[in-house]
Amino acid sequence: MHRFDEQSEQLWHAAIEMARRRRIEPQPVRRPRTREELTPLLVDTITPSGIGSDEALRLFQEVVAEFSITGDHRRFFSFIGHAPTEAAVIGDILLSAHPLYGGDWLEGAGAIQAENVVLTWLAKLAGLPPEAGGCFVSGGTVGNLSALHVARQSARSSRGDPIGKRWALVTSSEAHSSVRSAASVLDVDVLTVTVGPGEKLTGEAIAHLLGYEGERVFAVVAAAGSTNLGTIDDLISIGRVCREAGVWLHVDGSYGLAALVSPDARAKFAGIELCDSFIVDPHKWLFSTYDCCGLIYRDPPIARRAHTQSAAYLDALDGDDQWHPANYAIHLSRRARGVPVWFSLAVNGERAYAAAIDATLETTRLAASAVKERAWLTLLAEPELSVVAFQRIGWSWQNCIDWAERLLQEGVAFVVPTTVAGEPALRLAIQHPNATIDDVIAVLESLA
Ligand SMILES: *Cc1c(COP(=O)(O)O)cnc(C)c1O
Repeated sequence: MHRFDEQSEQLWHAAIEMARRRRIEPQPVRRPRTREELTPLLVDTITPSGIGSDEALRLFQEVVAEFSITGDHRRFFSFIGHAPTEAAVIGDILLSAHPLYGGDWLEGAGAIQAENVVLTWLAKLAGLPPEAGGCFVSGGTVGNLSALHVARQSARSSRGDPIGKRWALVTSSEAHSSVRSAASVLDVDVLTVTVGPGEKLTGEAIAHLLGYEGERVFAVVAAAGSTNLGTIDDLISIGRVCREAGVWLHVDGSYGLAALVSPDARAKFAGIELCDSFIVDPHKWLFSTYDCCGLIYRDPPIARRAHTQSAAYLDALDGDDQWHPANYAIHLSRRARGVPVWFSLAVNGERAYAAAIDATLETTRLAASAVKERAWLTLLAEPELSVVAFQRIGWSWQNCIDWAERLLQEGVAFVVPTTVAGEPALRLAIQHPNATIDDVIAVLESLA
């Protein structure tokens, strides 16, 4: 099983051919099946002597791939999509064929250097100084948690724990659920500034809160692209207030900060250069493979102090002055998941990325106009990024669910409803550069 023999040779060819066909052929909008339906399909597949590669490959194609919705369909409009480039997919396959350890420089130097080139490039796009850096983690959830741990440790060491009070972070009511999850893991309070649909968190609102809660606030989390509506908080005023108060500013750009690669869109993020840390997920709108989140700190040594694990078996890495990604987040063993991002950026270049982002932004603008033109729909907010949210007049939550289910069953598109200000709403997140306004109109017309 660990020898490269005739059988491995055949399996390589068959697998590559299957992967290649998957990339060439137009894919349907797939739909899941229930656990009851799937159970018999993979039953008895782990056997004393194995079922063999032909049968395993067949099951991969007919079950594993067939009953999973893949995010790279043009009409995947749910959640936040996932549309990796061909080069990113190939970079991912290449990375897997080199089972290397991405936690420390000693073992993964080459791969980590490639990842760091991407992180430095992202930091520069955000206007951070050249010393900025960090690592790639599995997703925005771990990225936010890791950054907020550093923020709290930094506050602890500079001003000590608040006396008789709990630590708190400030964010808006539109912040991603992972921010509250991180607060729960860190056992800190969340001070929420309520914002309406399309409204932004501002420095003024934060200054007001800091006026009476300042002592216990260790971080502000601003969104550079909220998940539900794509709203970008007012980073300039927030950054100024945080600087003034000495409070860590973390910018959650898991989805939206990908648009930094577009020179036309970059101005939307003015003020990002004032942050202490930010995240952006290449597996969302930067066209790489799952799972991948870039986590970047303005001042990496602070993060290193907060995250470095120590033990006898790690002593060999201590004090060697090298860049160990394990020291910058809550993880140790890690896949060098930034390599496919580097590979695709190197192959395609910045301009192709900018064009891809601009294409999705343009489709979104057209989609918002198309919503406004239809009497049965109400646009909920002018899109800032690639999310367009609207209501179907007269529809309940159940109507929305039934419609979404029908669209999936019929293979038209994958859309899930959401709520905006407590009311049922529909939302298209346009992530695939090949999605056209006709794809969007097909969805809008099905709501007539
Ligand atoms: C998706 C998202 C997250 C969480 O990222 P995961 O990669 O799913 O863990 C955090 N913040 C925002 C704004 C997001 O859109």
